Amino acid sequence: MPTLPERTLFGPGPSDVAPSVLEAMSRPVIGHLDPAFVGLLDEVGGMLREAFVTRNEVTFAASGTGSAGMEMALVNLLSPGDRAVVGVAGVFGERLAEIARRCGAEVAEVSVPWGDPIDPAQIEASLRGSPAKLVAIVHAETSTGVRQPLEEIARIARENGALVVVDAVTSLAGIPLFVDEWGIDVCYSGTQKCLSVPPGLSPITFSPRAMEAIRTRATPVRSWYLDVTMITRYWGAERVYHHTAPISMLYALHEGLRLVGEEGLEARWERHRALGEYLQSELVGLGFELLAAEGFRLPQLTAAALPGGADERAARKRLLDEFGIEVGGGLGAFAGRAWRIGLMGESCRKEKLDRLLEAVRTVIGHAV
Ligand SMILES: *Cc1c(COP(=O)(O)O)cnc(C)c1O
Repeated sequence: MPTLPERTLFGPGPSDVAPSVLEAMSRPVIGHLDPAFVGLLDEVGGMLREAFVTRNEVTFAASGTGSAGMEMALVNLLSPGDRAVVGVAGVFGERLAEIARRCGAEVAEVSVPWGDPIDPAQIEASLRGSPAKLVAIVHAETSTGVRQPLEEIARIARENGALVVVDAVTSLAGIPLFVDEWGIDVCYSGTQKCLSVPPGLSPITFSPRAMEAIRTRATPVRSWYLDVTMITRYWGAERVYHHTAPISMLYALHEGLRLVGEEGLEARWERHRALGEYLQSELVGLGFELLAAEGFRLPQLTAAALPGGADERAARKRLLDEFGIEVGGGLGAFAGRAWRIGLMGESCRKEKLDRLLEAVRTVIGHAV
């Protein structure tokens, strides 16, 4: 193996992983039907219910990264010809719309400029025009740093008889999210953002309403691998083999969720809020321009344009080469002029943030 450098990860994911999570991953591999292992699965399910704040029985970790959860949500709910309303406000909203189209749905995109929140009234207008099977939105849009007005959009979707699908890849365990209270039907996440576990699993939860919609489908789910009904026969009491569970990743997720429980969800949300606000005010002081609309800024992901037309690539390379610090480059409308700075999970610590800010001062001083 090549020598791997030490990094501090302030990009849009993956985030830093706690030593105890790495240690959990290195435990001996046992069988995926071993009683000791299925006991661990039950505990993972229980801790995921706490993290999603849900009582949904169908709550588990799908094999694959966050995009697998996205695809699982849509391919199980959508049949060819169904109408889907998708909020598009960045790269991940675009990905939702693309997957929905590949499921054969007729997709109505509700778009806003990058950096803006989606307007709930536009979602409502789209649903009034013609009923939809589901409304899908990204809670925390990682390409722009915008928190979408999820609670309001979910309420409107429900009032108009649509199922609510939410991408919580960057929001779970970073900002408040209440799956049951907000009336969300399918919510998925990823392990490598605010959960601070390596990439490889996608926590996901389905409401009874969503499971009923899947049970009454006229045609089989088009994906065999992501068929939730088959997978729940493994995660549920029957323990029927579907595909081999990624054993070591589940050890890691178990430990990552244990750490979330030990800290407490609310304390974790507060840690992200406080340090995210601190980072953003310091960046403004350095001449950066925050690109997400005020009032909708995510603490765990900040998109900011560099001061004075600085060369973002050169400055980002210096952070990596001289300080071992990774930040992300801007995407789409923000490419070439902005950074995306993640403060997720284990990366969201005051000592690490102070080191980041010192390094940023150094490279910006030289790069301008
Ligand atoms: C990272 C991310 C994804 C995709 O997750 P992968 O793990 O890269 O597949 C989806 N949605 C959002 C909002 C994300 O930030």
